[in-house]
Amino acid sequence: MNITVDGLTSIYHAGTPFEHIALDHLTTTFEPGKYYAIIGRTGSGKSTLIQHLNGLILPTEGEVQVGDLTLGKKTKQRIIHQVKKHVGMVFQFPEHQLFDETILKDVMFGPLNMGFTEAEAQARAEKYLSLLGVPERAFGRSPFDLSGGQMRKIAIAGILAMEPEVLIVDEPTAGLDPKSHIEVMELFKRIQQEFDITIILVTHDMNDVFEYADEVKLLAAGGLIREGPTEDILTDELLLTDHHLEIPDIVKLTHDLERKGIVFETVPRNTEAF
Ligand code: ADP
Repeated sequence: MNITVDGLTSIYHAGTPFEHIALDHLTTTFEPGKYYAIIGRTGSGKSTLIQHLNGLILPTEGEVQVGDLTLGKKTKQRIIHQVKKHVGMVFQFPEHQLFDETILKDVMFGPLNMGFTEAEAQARAEKYLSLLGVPERAFGRSPFDLSGGQMRKIAIAGILAMEPEVLIVDEPTAGLDPKSHIEVMELFKRIQQEFDITIILVTHDMNDVFEYADEVKLLAAGGLIREGPTEDILTDELLLTDHHLEIPDIVKLTHDLERKGIVFETVPRNTEAF
């Protein structure tokens, strides 16, 4: 599913003394099955942009086209509801939205809400819990007995069970221990590759962007400054520094070695080194 953002302007508190332009005539495209990272310093508009992609906020001006559905200034709830079926969103600290008495019921909640029968919802919940490596004997446990990292994975399974074609993830590893951090990031990469889902990641972690994203979109002051392959943008130390972003460790190391006259080639993911 293609998402096209066309001349998107987003103004908070329009027409009041608190009026604030968060996005200013932004145009870009998200192609199916790719892994995107949206980066930029705090306040650049990342969170506003992703909320437009699934209809949580409607444009002040311009349009967002999600497949053949159009989100504009006056789009009706019926269309927004359709868009939300295609575009899933994992908010920051998604475990805060867990509420049911068992893990299984919590993951079934989304599919049930979409109109699936109990049996269908249960089949989906079991599929995604298994994908996450949750053993069947744990399905009846309370999600509140789990560790922070496990709770987050259950919450993510609840979004995956709705089988969105596009999955937006906002700072998905905030507050996680290093092991859960890697597990959660590997999970998104896996579902992108196995189910051909588009992933749109918002993060401050440039190591994760370098490791996982195919394409990067750099925002500043509500505008799109640069977009393109991850390697082109994340190896540009000046650009990253200008935007108060960390330089990925591997890029720092490679450039340090180059300065010492040692040429070091990074091996692309999933490529065997000989
Ligand atoms: P980021 O996610 O990159 O930190 P945001 O999209 O949250 O950026 O914010 C973009 C701009 O819009 C910022 O200047 C921010 O202060 C402003 N903003 C965000 N949310 C609101 C809001 N609810 N009301 C008013 N201004 C907001």
